[in-house]
Amino acid sequence: MFFTKYFSIAEMKAWSLDQRQKGKTIGFVPTMGALHEGHLSLVRIARQHSDTVVVSIFVNPLQFAPHEDLDRYPKTLEKDVELLKKEGVAVVFIPKASEMYSPHFQTVVEVTELSKHLCGNSRPGHFRGVATVVLKLFQIVNPHIAIFGDKDFQQRLVIARLVKDLGLEIKILAGPIVREADGLAMSSRNQYLSLDERKRACVLYEALTKALTMFQSGERNSARIIMKVSEMIDKVSPTHVDYMKICDAETLEEVWSIQKKAILAVAVYFNKTRLIDNVILSHPERSEGSV
Ligand code: AMP
Repeated sequence: MFFTKYFSIAEMKAWSLDQRQKGKTIGFVPTMGALHEGHLSLVRIARQHSDTVVVSIFVNPLQFAPHEDLDRYPKTLEKDVELLKKEGVAVVFIPKASEMYSPHFQTVVEVTELSKHLCGNSRPGHFRGVATVVLKLFQIVNPHIAIFGDKDFQQRLVIARLVKDLGLEIKILAGPIVREADGLAMSSRNQYLSLDERKRACVLYEALTKALTMFQSGERNSARIIMKVSEMIDKVSPTHVDYMKICDAETLEEVWSIQKKAILAVAVYFNKTRLIDNVILSHPERSEGSV
């Protein structure tokens, strides 16, 4: 059984209810499309943990600021559907923006503290848009589990918090970052990069790997790690370094000395393309898997 964009919200809800009545568990992977191996890895995790998998493709206007790339966000719908078919996905849910947001739409949800840091600081309102659309999608798809990638680590924390705070009966699972052969984290936005920018962008992974090595060799001083990472990234002359921070991996508060699980997160512009990446700095024995 395979359904695509033809599902209305009402039909999607009815399908999920039917699956639940049949005793099937539903795994859900929300995406914005232009799919790559990173997305597909989440689908595989969903398949391992549920009877049937729903993937949504929705470029959510609510999470883009007016100057951002909403209009030029890559769209490869037919290819996406083919890829998902091969992965055994049961439903590809592709709602229309007009169906998700009526002209009088005015209700939003906000995860106040976690949304302040990192990307939330540089993209005000972004996580309000993310939390609102994910909550709406959860209401429609009604999944038992939902999978989010650690590429967007802050997003996963925001959603896990939302689920806890609102008492939703959904288990949030994490998928590790999937990378290109040269280490660049896969992203739908990588296709904006010119050949030259694409080559220079691998420095992010090299710098994060260096940071991890420093941490593993006993370095606990955030400033010294950041200085090294900054030096490496500066060498390829990115257009702008948006942020480069070591934060507590639960609260996302910046930490100056790494005493518990932390995340080194970076956001860098190459021309107009904003790339994000991160690495977890923690003792292996203390590291946690899914939220
Ligand atoms: P997006 O389509 O960019 O909104 O991403 C949809 C989901 O795929 C999110 O949970 C992302 O964190 C995840 N994702 C995107 N890129 C990667 C990647 N390289 N590795 C793992 N997960 C990813």
